[in-house]
Amino acid sequence: MAGLKCSHCGEGIRYHDMPNGIEHTVFTMKNWGKIVSTVYDPNNERMHEEWNTPGPYLYRADTIWEDFENDYFVAWVCPHCETIAVFDNSGLHVRAVYTPIDDKTPVDINAEKYVVFSDYVWEEISESSIPVSEIPDKFKASYYAIANSDYVWLFNSQIESDCSKVCKRIAIAAE
Ligand SMILES: [Zn+2]
Repeated sequence: MAGLKCSHCGEGIRYHDMPNGIEHTVFTMKNWGKIVSTVYDPNNERMHEEWNTPGPYLYRADTIWEDFENDYFVAWVCPHCETIAVFDNSGLHVRAVYTPIDDKTPVDINAEKYVVFSDYVWEEISESSIPVSEIPDKFKASYYAIANSDYVWLFNSQIESDCSKVCKRIAIAAE
């Protein structure tokens, strides 16, 4: 998808290949945990004999982008009003839109937790075959998020009192 109209403010949002802070790559915390616990091994073999303990082992053959392409989805943040458009797994259709609100709706701590990378960070993570052990240190998540069907809560860290923004789901404008 290269462009859409913001469902909240109506501005056109365009995105090309260069990072510009619009596109964000989102993993569930569970999937991200799985990815950062995999071993990077281009030959898909055990790299060290001392690991000769019962498996199963998870291996990453190349970039995260290639090895885990079904484990994330993309969201766009409108540069004008910060409304979030969440795409389906195909990346072609917006499946939900959330817009920032002022009130402090309590966090639904039982809802799904996510790790979010801005396109600037994601380009670095995804363009090369980086040992997964280096990723948590070198590449900080841009946001953490908790979301249910009605709200998204954004956090600057994994501390749940550190909520920086609440967004409420709105109806999607007809295309
Ligand atoms: Zn907007």
